[in-house]
Amino acid sequence: MVEEAKNLLDWSQWGRQWIEHLRRHKTLNRELERHLHKFEETFTLIGRQASKLDSTQAGDELPTLITRAEQVQEQFHHFLRLAQLSEDEHMEQEMRESAQESINVQPAVAEEVQVPVVVPAPISYPGAREPVRAARPVPAGRHTLPPLPYAYNALEPYIDEATMQIHHNKLHQKYVDDLNTAERKLAEARESGNFELIRHWERELAFNGAGHYLHTIFWPAMSPNGGGTPSGDLAAAINRYFGSYNAFRRQFSQAAEKVEGPGWAILVWSPRAHHLEILTAEKHQNLSQWDVIPLLALDVWEHAYFLGYQTQRDKYVENWWNIVNWPYVEERYEKARKLRWEPY
Ligand code: FE
Repeated sequence: MVEEAKNLLDWSQWGRQWIEHLRRHKTLNRELERHLHKFEETFTLIGRQASKLDSTQAGDELPTLITRAEQVQEQFHHFLRLAQLSEDEHMEQEMRESAQESINVQPAVAEEVQVPVVVPAPISYPGAREPVRAARPVPAGRHTLPPLPYAYNALEPYIDEATMQIHHNKLHQKYVDDLNTAERKLAEARESGNFELIRHWERELAFNGAGHYLHTIFWPAMSPNGGGTPSGDLAAAINRYFGSYNAFRRQFSQAAEKVEGPGWAILVWSPRAHHLEILTAEKHQNLSQWDVIPLLALDVWEHAYFLGYQTQRDKYVENWWNIVNWPYVEERYEKARKLRWEPY
């Protein structure tokens, strides 16, 4: 099977897993439920078409279908956003209008995919391309779970499907929910002027905000096509500061393995010092250096590896290098390094 067709199958599975997640965790109105059903048919059809594609057909059909598939993905991201917003009654009107727009852009998803659709390479890690909503600021209490940019089983054998399901679906969702609660409670406090519980909500804000943001970097920083070594300016910066890629990797692995209890190992660029650094965070918020931009984050909480590795965090850390998505890290580095404070 050609590579694109395989990507397409993974993508189809990713979509159907999302739909399953939404059905289990979200209350959708009839309008959205109807669209969800159409998306489900679309993902299923695309998966079926992909499994039939052989290398002779693929050459003819791929180019025209790639654009089409990207549209479906774009609309699904939009739909996910709407599904999140729909939980809030105040947003219902706006949501209906936006839903209407998305219907106009994409009339009858299900019928159109009778034409076989093949997913382009970027689908394998679309998280690297920020979804449309990134252009708009997130209002207080309206964070949403970013879609996993690949299927739940895509990182096997390095990270198993069950771990990924729990980690993304359940745990990351909980950070999002609790961050939203903290932001809403703080907004209420601002309004009422009653800051009696400020210490509690500030802690919640730090813990769940750090959890949400770090996991948001964590998912697209891995890829089924990952591994290898960094290139370009990031490679040069690593060599310059750490001496070599191997020296960097040794230090990063050691730092990750030796975090006391749950936490993270994080490669950062310091806009102040103008060089890279490796930091660790106990839990999320302790020992954090705030004036930095995370580039590469490795989750070493037990939930990230326990089902597959039990207590062998070192094996998990070692294997994790096979799925690091360097182009994504490079992209983050390219943007982050432009931010430079006055050095002191
Ligand atoms: Fe985690």
